[in-house]
Amino acid sequence: MAETLETLRRKVAELLFRNGVTETPLLDTDRLFCALLGYSRAEIWSRSRELLDEVHVARILYMARRRAGGEPLAYVLGEAGFYGRSFAVNPGCLVPRPETEILVEEALKRLPERGTFLDWGTGSGCIAATLLLECPTARGFALEASPRAVVMAWHNFRRHGLLPAVTLLHSSTCDALPSACMDMVLGNPPYIPTAQIPFLMREVRDFEPHSALDGGVDGLDAYRFLLPVASRLLRPGGWLLLEIGGEEQVAPLRDLEDGLVFCGSRPDLNGHIRVLLWRKGEKMA
Ligand code: GLN
Repeated sequence: MAETLETLRRKVAELLFRNGVTETPLLDTDRLFCALLGYSRAEIWSRSRELLDEVHVARILYMARRRAGGEPLAYVLGEAGFYGRSFAVNPGCLVPRPETEILVEEALKRLPERGTFLDWGTGSGCIAATLLLECPTARGFALEASPRAVVMAWHNFRRHGLLPAVTLLHSSTCDALPSACMDMVLGNPPYIPTAQIPFLMREVRDFEPHSALDGGVDGLDAYRFLLPVASRLLRPGGWLLLEIGGEEQVAPLRDLEDGLVFCGSRPDLNGHIRVLLWRKGEKMA
């Protein structure tokens, strides 16, 4: 049945409010409407008496029910924002997080002109794509083991016009890459200790890929794999930048240096240690 925008908007907001899945039911509602109708948020208000046909009503209700069932808004919309740009996402890749923008900022300070980098576990491709868009002379390798995520990364590289600048590898190893060829290796590996997975927010635990979250007993399995690999791939003076879960993970990682020199950490906007930095064969002041 056709309904006015305002009536349907109220219905959806109430559904999301009742289910308690989001602290921002009205904002989520408006984002669903904006995505489906192609309106700005102001238009959602100004066109509130508009009549929506049955197809639009059915589609909005379908998306609203998914959100009410706890699915992250980004998966329902198929889109997430990162560093001011939009990226396609599906449940095969992690939803880009604002904390990861710190990793990108630190990478941009250190990536040389015409530099080559590897984004390990690229997921949606948001890290590699942002580096290439902000530093257009750079060239990137993006490595991803999950088939569903590789599809998203490819889609995002194409959408942002980056296919000529990036080599997307569907692999769980870096064996195909030659030694000492990278100016930078970076990534957001899974870092949550397995025992903490059941206690994550439901939205994360029940919908996001555990392969991108679960880092083994202490959360550091991927780092133990990655540090020696990065040491092989980096040129002398090249940088390794990795996102981590928090302060307690710094000390065990410092002991794993393996040809790399630990160069410190950076906090996120909440003051939590979020990025660790190493350099190959050269100590930074
Ligand atoms: N930051 C993510 C979360 O807290 C975890 C990402 C990761 O394990 N790399 O849900």
